[in-house]
Amino acid sequence: MEKIVFATNSAHKLRELRQMLAGRYEVLSLRDIECYDDIPETADTFEGNALIKAQWVKQHYGYDCFADDSGLEVDALGGAPGVMSARYAGVHGDDNANNKKLLAELTDKADKRGRFRCAIVLLRDGEEPHVFTGSVEGSITDKASGDSGFGYDPIFVPEGMDKTFAQISAEEKNAISHRGKAVAKLVKYLETSEYDA
Ligand code: IMP
Repeated sequence: MEKIVFATNSAHKLRELRQMLAGRYEVLSLRDIECYDDIPETADTFEGNALIKAQWVKQHYGYDCFADDSGLEVDALGGAPGVMSARYAGVHGDDNANNKKLLAELTDKADKRGRFRCAIVLLRDGEEPHVFTGSVEGSITDKASGDSGFGYDPIFVPEGMDKTFAQISAEEKNAISHRGKAVAKLVKYLETSEYDA
């Protein structure tokens, strides 16, 4: 099976991606290629950050790879937390603190609509970077519910549903999520593009 690096340290994202690419690609993590670098995420767009991560792996480790960057935008907060999603409350990856802060920011807001966005950048030898995007509209709840998933899942209800992302199965989430949509485009591209590096 063809190998490809997914430039992430998130066990949750890796599991999601492996599920979605199962049987088609062997997805290697940063740990699998012994990359323990603190890759900078200094861009102000999801696409920009994904490109930085993919370029880092390609330049320093030589692997064909893809990287994602994703986050939650809330309309009443002018698009925040956006690219700051992972470190909204200060500590990178502190999901509980991030959720608590977001719920507090929205207490007085009538409009709690927002969306998750995801950008994936694929970098392969001899090719220009390819960008794949996905988004899912929804709204922020008043309190956390459910314990599957990660990040803002317990406080995000996708449009047309009455459950949070943390109350549905990984399969149900993948079918409608921002990352699921971007990955579907990536997978389609990987399956249909002529490629011999
Ligand atoms: P990244 O790892 O730099 O892409 O940061 C993404 C951050 O956005 C995560 O740490 C979460 O806080 C949030 N996020 C992205 N995708 C999801 C999702 O599918 N569910 C919940 N939170 C998400």
